[in-house]
Amino acid sequence: MSAQLPGVLAEQRALVVEALRYIQKFSGTRAVIKYGGAAMIDPALKRSFAQDVVLLQAAGLRPVIVHGGGPEITKMLERLGHQTQFVDGQRVTSAEDIRVVEMVLTGKVNTEIVGLINTLGGRAIGLSGKDARLLQARKQAPRPGKPDLGFVGDIEAVDPAILETLLAGNYMPVISPVGLGADGASFNINADVAAAEIAVAAKAKKLIFLTDVPGILDEAGQRLSELKAPELAARAREGRTIKGGMAVKAAGILRALEGGVEAVHVVDGREPHSVVVELFTEKGVGSLITAG
Ligand code: ADP
Ligand code: MG
Repeated sequence: MSAQLPGVLAEQRALVVEALRYIQKFSGTRAVIKYGGAAMIDPALKRSFAQDVVLLQAAGLRPVIVHGGGPEITKMLERLGHQTQFVDGQRVTSAEDIRVVEMVLTGKVNTEIVGLINTLGGRAIGLSGKDARLLQARKQAPRPGKPDLGFVGDIEAVDPAILETLLAGNYMPVISPVGLGADGASFNINADVAAAEIAVAAKAKKLIFLTDVPGILDEAGQRLSELKAPELAARAREGRTIKGGMAVKAAGILRALEGGVEAVHVVDGREPHSVVVELFTEKGVGSLITAG
């Protein structure tokens, strides 16, 4: 019979061993993390997120962060006396607005995230989709019967060369989702879409969405802890349980899985350390989606 370690519960021991096994498994694995929601607003959650990615990097994972920044953009536009109008969850972005979007996303939000990660011992480096032509964009075509969205862009191509260079040097890229048009214009790109396309182009094994819900919820509001791509596609198509921002994510999830990403996670960013817990425990805390 083995002696009991005083003060260490059997479950705690099992958890530590489980986590170490995952560290061994994930060493060198690229993971794109879409950072958004409360985890980007609440100071304590911001810090726990930054600690998490520093730990992930130390554990041998290769995180790539793609961030949003909607609430900050709205705040700044309001301060400047601009009205924000949304159409199907997308911000109508005028020529003047796109300058504010870029200033906030690339100039403020991005540099704050990079500063925090590096203060905690990480090796983050900030860039926007314009850097080294990472995100090449074109104006999103207006949908029939809908207003023109202005400088809202679709991704035309992703050039992952800069990410290869940074990851080879063990840097953690932090990307603001601003795309570069053929004529040099800037385009506002949905961060979920950008994260999915970057995950495919960078051959990431994992894509993680941090959001303000416990995961993908079913019709009863219960978290779906595991689902296969065909089931997600069916739910998204049917449109009754998956709507709004989650419909955008669902499209990104399916695109990523089709493009070779092995696993996509949707986790609750309102809980501290959810990324680490999701990745390093068997049960996880969010929704795990894999190809069917
Ligand atoms: P994010 O900042 O993460 O992009 P969004 O607001 O764009 O957040 O998307 C998440 C939102 O999608 C949730 O807050 C919720 O209101 C909505 N939603 C719609 N259908 C679902 C669903 N089936 N499961 C979870 N969230 C859903
Ligand atoms: Mg969204």
